[in-house]
Order: sequence, then C-alpha cells, then structure tokens
Amino acid sequence: MATSIELKRRGLLFVLSSPSGAGKSTIARMLLAADDGISLSVSATTRPPREGEVSGRDYHFVSDDEFERMVQTGAFLEWAHVFGRRYGTLQSEVTQSIENGCDVLLDIDWQGTQQLKQVDPDIVRVFILPPSMAELERRLRARGTDSEEVIAGRMERAAAEISHWAEYDYVLVNEDAGDCLDKVHSILKAERLKRARRVGLTDFVRSLIG
Ligand code: 5GP
Repeated sequence: MATSIELKRRGLLFVLSSPSGAGKSTIARMLLAADDGISLSVSATTRPPREGEVSGRDYHFVSDDEFERMVQTGAFLEWAHVFGRRYGTLQSEVTQSIENGCDVLLDIDWQGTQQLKQVDPDIVRVFILPPSMAELERRLRARGTDSEEVIAGRMERAAAEISHWAEYDYVLVNEDAGDCLDKVHSILKAERLKRARRVGLTDFVRSLIG
C-alpha cells in the first residue's frame, strides 16, 4: 500500500556527468523512460542543434545575446563554457519540479556540478566512466556527428572531465548500458529513501510510538 509518508518528499537533483561518448545520454534517456518520478532539466546552450535534436526537448537553443540576457537576469542555477560554447541550467527547469516532489535529472559537466553543489549541497552526483579511452574514441566516431577536429577536441576534454571523478558521490563504468542503467536506477531509488529527505517521517514515527 502506498502511504502518504512516501509522497511527502522534496524532489532531489540527480546529476549525471561523463566525458561525451561514455554513454551518458543513452543512460539518461533510459532512466527517464524507466521512471516517471524523474524529469529532465533541459539546458540552454549557444551551440547549434545537431541533426535530429529538437529545441525545448534536447536543449533550449539560444543565441549568444539571448544567453547573456539570461545570465544578467539570473535565469541560471549554473552555467559554464564547454567546447567554446555556453551551457546552463535554468532555474525554471528545476524549482517547480523539486517543490512538487519530482526529481530532476541534470546532464551537466563538472563545472556545473561544482556550482550546483554550492547552491544545493544535497544534490546526488553520479559520474560515468568509459571502459577505456580507445572505446570512448570508437563511440565518438560511431556517432558520425562530429568532424575529426571536434573528435580530437572531445578526446582531449574527456581526460580533463575524467580528472574530476573524485568529486562525485558515485562512479560507474559503462561497459553495458543496461547494466549501467540498473545501477543508476538503484542509486536513485536508494537516495529517495534517505531519512533526511522524508519530510513526513518524523510525524509518522511519532504516530507509531508517541
Ligand atoms: P553536448 O554538446 O555533447 O550536448 O554537451 C557537451 C557537454 O556539455 C556535456 O558534457 C554536457 O553534460 C554538458 N552540458 C550540457 N548542458 C549543460 C548545462 O546546463 N550546464 C553545464 N555546466 N554543462 C552542460
């Protein structure tokens, strides 16, 4: 039986970081499909859309000027330069969901994660590693979306991103997407049950033992 105790909970911020090509986007998509208690924070970015990407679903694609205006009006919880473009998490994507008890998935880099930790020390940080750098490069090429120059840049940046692995609460190696998803989902489910997040628990226990 689902009790109201389980419902009384503030949503949590669930951060997934990895170098690009480590499978994070796939894991994120699978997690969103597998669990209706978590929604994606759609970031704003100044990078152009890739083929198949939809504005408002994958990113809010904005101009440099628009992004700057959003920075000035305090629209971002965090923002950072990545690959020479700007990316940021919008307050509006996060606050309402959290208040409604819905968890929010953030696909952001180490810079954003550091900033977010300052804003909300309670965030859950998960880092996904590739099984090897050779496999990472193979996956980047298999996407077929980036030029050689971009791939070389992403490989260089991958090492820099990985160097921040110890700043995360959980670190997983993505050898198999299904297996990695199971682990990510287990982390989310366990974090939801943490005593400190269960707003109604004290009253419930009082009702049990007075
Ligand atoms: P991509 O261009 O491949 O979609 O993303 C490049 C990198 O930017 C990824 O590592 C992704 O996690 C990061 N990123 C996406 N959105 C945000 C954001 O809102 N803030 C920060 N700090 N990084 C982001």
